Order: sequence, then C-alpha cells, then structure tokens
Amino acid sequence: MSDHFLMFVPTDPTWQPTKADAERAVELFKSIAPNAQTIEAIFTDDVEFHHPCENWSGVDCAACGADLEDWFYETTDKVYRENHFADLSVTTPCCGLHTSLNDLNFVWPAAFGRFALESMRPGLDTNEEQEKAIAACLGSDLRKVWIHL
Ligand SMILES: [Zn+2]
Repeated sequence: MSDHFLMFVPTDPTWQPTKADAERAVELFKSIAPNAQTIEAIFTDDVEFHHPCENWSGVDCAACGADLEDWFYETTDKVYRENHFADLSVTTPCCGLHTSLNDLNFVWPAAFGRFALESMRPGLDTNEEQEKAIAACLGSDLRKVWIHL
C-alpha cells in the first residue's frame, strides 16, 4: 500500500493562517483538485516536521553544500527533545552557518510548520499559478512537499 500526499506548508514554521482563510484555501484546493481523496487544513500547537518519507533525498548545508544527513537526524532529535521545535536555530558543523533547521537545503523538499494544507492522493500536480492562488488565499508564501509513503 503506497500513498501520496501533497502538502503546502508556510515558509515561516510558526505562522498560521486564520481558520476562515484556511477554510477558503481548502475550498480553492478542492476546486483545483476535484478528484483528490482528501483535502484538509491541519493546525498544530507545536511545530511539526513534515518528512517526505520515500521521497527523502538527503539534506545539505545551504552555504557550502556539505552533506548533513547524519547530523540533521541527530540534531533534529535533540532539538525536538529540548524544545519541541519551538527554536529551530542551529549552527552547521561544516562551515559554521547560523541558520534554521528549516532553511537547510533539502534535496527533496521537506518542511517544518504549525500549519499544513494537505491532500491525500490529489490526482494531479499543481502548477505555479495555482500555487500562487493558494498562497494568496492563505496569506503566506508556501513550501510544497510531496510525501510518498
Ligand atoms: Zn556548510
């Protein structure tokens, strides 16, 4: 059994839309992807990490390009234990870049966030124009994450 999810996550991991804007975005996404199995707005109190599962292709330093996969998993576990992702700031071990766990170079997109607009089996891929419309509806720039279970 394999499943595909298309998820839009605000680029600011702590940001959340209003419930009304989220509902409008769900309706808009439904009009774009009428054959989607499910489309829902997901709000969480804590920041969550949306891992692309089988699509995962590694993570590199955004400054020097070093492969940070092992460090990323260790550090993500540690940050989660320490503050449940309330503070994502880190310093990369390769070149000392002060950054956020969310701003590393995920080879296949992944995202941290407290809100997600998520579709299970959307039945299509969105284009840039549709993505801009969804972002405008929510009021935030979005990161698009395809998850394959
Ligand atoms: Zn680096």
